[in-house]
Amino acid sequence: MSDLTSTLLSLGTRQPRERRVFDAIVVGSGISGGWAAKELTERGLETVVLEAGGPIDFGGKDFTEHVQSYELKYRGWGDRNTIAKTQPIQGQCYACDEAGHKFFVNDFENPYTTPDNAPFKWFRGRQVGGRSIMWGRQVYRWSDLDFEANAKDGHGTDWPIRYKDIAPWYSHVERFIGITGAKEGLSQLPDGEFLPAMQMTVVERAARENILKKFGGERVLTIGRAAVLTQNHNGRAACHYCGPCERGCVTHSYFNSIGSTLPAAKKTGRLTLRPHSVVTEVLFDAKRGRARGVRVIDAVTMQEHIFEAKVVFLCASAIESVRLLLNSKSTRFPDGFANSSGTLGKYVMDHHYGSGAGGTFPGFLDKRTEGRRPNGIYVARFRNVTSASKDFVRGYGMQGGSSRGGWGRGSGMRGYGAAFKQSLIDDLGPWGLSVGGWGETLPYEDNTITLDPTVKDKWGVPAARINVTWRENEIAMNKDIIASGVELMEAAGCTDVRPSRTMHPPGHCIHEMGGARMAKTAKEGVLNGWNQSWDVPNLFITDGSAMASTACQNPSITYMALTARAAAHAVAELKRRSL
Ligand SMILES: Cc1cc2nc3c(=O)[nH]c(=O)nc-3n(C[C@H](O)[C@H](O)[C@H](O)COP(=O)(O)OP(=O)(O)OC[C@H]3O[C@@H](n4cnc5c(N)ncnc54)[C@H](O)[C@@H]3O)c2cc1C
Ligand code: SF4
Repeated sequence: MSDLTSTLLSLGTRQPRERRVFDAIVVGSGISGGWAAKELTERGLETVVLEAGGPIDFGGKDFTEHVQSYELKYRGWGDRNTIAKTQPIQGQCYACDEAGHKFFVNDFENPYTTPDNAPFKWFRGRQVGGRSIMWGRQVYRWSDLDFEANAKDGHGTDWPIRYKDIAPWYSHVERFIGITGAKEGLSQLPDGEFLPAMQMTVVERAARENILKKFGGERVLTIGRAAVLTQNHNGRAACHYCGPCERGCVTHSYFNSIGSTLPAAKKTGRLTLRPHSVVTEVLFDAKRGRARGVRVIDAVTMQEHIFEAKVVFLCASAIESVRLLLNSKSTRFPDGFANSSGTLGKYVMDHHYGSGAGGTFPGFLDKRTEGRRPNGIYVARFRNVTSASKDFVRGYGMQGGSSRGGWGRGSGMRGYGAAFKQSLIDDLGPWGLSVGGWGETLPYEDNTITLDPTVKDKWGVPAARINVTWRENEIAMNKDIIASGVELMEAAGCTDVRPSRTMHPPGHCIHEMGGARMAKTAKEGVLNGWNQSWDVPNLFITDGSAMASTACQNPSITYMALTARAAAHAVAELKRRSL
């Protein structure tokens, strides 16, 4: 057993401790909670991470990326009866398949409600590592275009930070987790600290050149930037291109909390990780005007515990952190913890996506892909960067990739027998290329999270009531995504170009943000520029709820950078005795 594996195995157990007073409490062990744990412990704080879900056996049975579909009972399609009974919502996420559904919640134990005319898909995991286990690993820095947008066009409140404030923290995170990507020198998509880039296919390389020529360099197709290692890095092995990362990764070649940040925190000797700990309330010390700690229900014994600390970090994910604060009422905060601004639960967002275009790429029939590259291509935002669109504000990026038909296309053809099957393998059919847009959503005050008055989860906590809808700007942008997708595919050199017109409901993109936004003043938001509560200085919220806008890039690396930055600030403030 390697040192790394033994460190990891000892992470997954509940550690009952007599001591209940810590320097720091972190709620949640996912993407942001892992970073809070690492930074706080490395900076000297005795830290308890309270995680609602159970541990994962990452050494063995839980990670099944090498199990083939034919080895699964339902050949990868999943037991539809069980999924319908326990995960009717989660089962709509592509990653919640037969192998991966155990990383998603039981919808009946974890209910939420929506108005009938405003569906919202809330895909989530409850386990040590949160959604860092099954996320898509796409990581793109935000830029000043994003941090200045609210101030410039007046939608939402101005961010209290700019790109220069977070840039060193992006670097800090990237150096630790390892990112594959190519530098492009684009102001709207700043370059990061990259490991060697994964290769684009011949078709993608040809498409890039054709698009660059056609649009005079304004539209740039590049290889995806992903938190996947292309060389050994920080004790983790380089990726071996096996493919289905959302099922886990025994070599820890992609970033998740249990392979990277939590082991680093554990190494300090200052981490206590407590799975099965459902935090139900943040407790207020009215005398000191501080968070005293949290109330926890042990998910297995249903016993209640109180944990106290000098500083509390909420990293339970955007909707969960807001739900927790709304459920934490006191005389001082009758409308939810740290909510003197009245903005808690408002300005909730997600990216809109689903539309784009695809086509057939002629030629290159003597070339095929090798291995299963766990990454796609990216087209950087080109709308409203140098000139303004008349139809909508903000912009979108596009993600996609190329592939050949493969043997599976035989299911739609006439023929049978060994010779027929061999012919499908020898001739993989033509190449295809496709892209889809990921669009920025504006922050609307009446896109909200509140507490449902009657529905509760298995642990007695009121369910979130989510009321989020797309508006004119998102719909206009979606139209443009389809038109420009077609334009891009034609410019790339595709024939038989087909638009795809889908606009998934909010939540489906799994980039939920807002609800406890950062703002320049205590009147306009819940958090200041350090992810610190304006009202309660020893409370920090560093997950997606803190976001004042969505940009169009995938958001998780920004949560990581903000979390590391907030943790450094919290420790400095503790040392100065101002918390
Ligand atoms: C299939 C999929 C693909 C994705 N692809 C990408 C991508 O390519 N790029 C990207 O940027 N993002 C992607 N995401 C989104 C990304 O996973 C989330 O943005 C990110 O995980 C959010 O981090 P977090 O720390 O806020 O929450 P999570 O990682 O969800 O972690 C929250 C943790 O808090 C725990 N928790 C919740 N409530 C409580 C409570 N009351 N008490 C104690 N613990 C609690 C949960 O159990 C969970 O472990 C994807 C997500 C999925 C599911
Ligand atoms: S990161 Fe690489 S090695 Fe790990 S599961 Fe994905 S493709 Fe396989």
